[in-house]
Formats: sequence, C-alpha cells, structure tokens
Amino acid sequence: MDHTLKTPKPEAIRLEGVEVTLPSRAGPVAILRGIDLEVETGDAIAVVGPSGSGKSTLLMVTAGLERATGGRVTVVGTDYAALDEDGLARLRAANIGIVFQSFHLVPTMTAIENVALPLEFLGDARAFAKARAALAEVGLSHRETHFPGQLSGGEQQRVAIARALSPRPKLILADEPTGNLDLTTGAQVMDLLFALKERTEATLVLITHDRSLAKRCDRIVSLADGRIVSGAKHKVAAS
Ligand code: ADP
Ligand code: MG
Repeated sequence: MDHTLKTPKPEAIRLEGVEVTLPSRAGPVAILRGIDLEVETGDAIAVVGPSGSGKSTLLMVTAGLERATGGRVTVVGTDYAALDEDGLARLRAANIGIVFQSFHLVPTMTAIENVALPLEFLGDARAFAKARAALAEVGLSHRETHFPGQLSGGEQQRVAIARALSPRPKLILADEPTGNLDLTTGAQVMDLLFALKERTEATLVLITHDRSLAKRCDRIVSLADGRIVSGAKHKVAAS
C-alpha cells in the first residue's frame, strides 16, 4: 500500500526530543535521551526493548504522569507544557485510558465501583450505568459486586480494561498488560483489548515483551538505553 496517497490523519501522539533526566545520589540519570515519536490516530503501536530501556517512562510521559525534563509532548493536540497538574489530570481522565501489568484496582471497592471511579471524576451523572455496560462488555456482569481480591488475575485485568475504556478514551496506554497472566488468559485479555480498541477507534500504545502480540500492532517501536532504535515514524511495510 502506498501511504503517501492517504490523507494524513492527525497525530494522537507527537513526542519531539523528549528527555527525562532524574537526579540521583550519583548525579543526574538520563532515562529518556531525545525521543522523537509520532503515532497516528487509530493506530496501534507496540513498544519493545530490554528491561530498563525506558518503556514505562515513555508511557508515563505520554500519560502526563511524569514530566519530560526536555523536549515537547503533544497528545490529542494538546501541548503538555501548557497544562498544570489539574489540567493534565482532566485531559488524562477525558482522553487516556491506562492499563497496568499489576491491574491497580482499588482493593476496597467492588468491580463496578472501580469502573465507575473515572466516570465519577469526570462528573458523569450516568457513571454507574456506564460502568455496568463496560463490565458487560468485558463479560463480567456476574462480578459487579465482587472485590478485586475475590477475582482471578484475568478477571481483574478485564475490570481494569473496563475502567480504562468506560470514558471512551481516544488513547489507550497499556504497560505489559499480560505480564501477570498465564498464556491463555493473556491471549483472551489481549483479544478483548484489541476488539475494544477497534470498536472505539482508539489509538493504542502497547508495551510488551511478547513478539506475537507486538506483531498484531501496526508498528513496532524498539527502545534501547532511553533511545528509539527503530520504528519512530514509518510504518513497517506490509509483508
Ligand atoms: P522499562 O519499562 O523499559 O523496564 P523504565 O522506564 O521503568 O524501563 O526505567 C528505565 C530506567 O530508568 C531504569 O534504569 C530505571 O531504573 C530508571 N528509573 C525509572 N524510574 C526512575 C526514577 N523515578 N528514579 C530513578 N531512576 C528511575
Ligand atoms: Mg516497564
């Protein structure tokens, strides 16, 4: 396919020269060293690379949960430099759904309460109705009033996906979402995540160690030592 003939879609993510340098007792540590990355709206990209290469930091910077110490971060058309912490939190709540390896559910809240949480933060009067629908979408209607500790790993991750996607975010960020799941459960969770991504026309950034999962994405971005070593801009030619 000749991509030059396509009307360019707006970018969901644009990172320009992004650096994260953190202080340490031994002096400043450069964690991201000049990341240039563009992700088109609706694309799925995989981020791969060795442990410690900066994948999670890249995701945190994209989510606005970690500030870049250099360069420019523009997500869904908004330059993060223009936002204070409240502004970032609002932009994130309305536009970004995050799924972590270790689920990050609130242990003292039931499944439906967990899913309703971001909707309530957004002041959605239909938070619980939407949370109920989101749990149905991930096949967990029968677990609404269960607490995370009463659910299997796969079920907890499905609750986390329902929570991340119930506000219908434009951008889904997933950091090794199958890392704590067995192979079969992980595959089911990813089938679900990809299906919901397609249905909601969201953009997906997926950090994964799983090559076969990475290959399901439109593009694979490889990180090493805080730099992108391949996949920054161009799609891999279809083969
Ligand atoms: P990955 O997700 O690819 O394993 P991370 O983004 O978690 O990599 O971390 C990249 C590097 O930055 C690692 O060497 C890690 O130890 C270091 N690092 C991450 N967060 C911090 C922090 N808050 N302070 C100091 N070093 C950090
Ligand atoms: Mg990581």
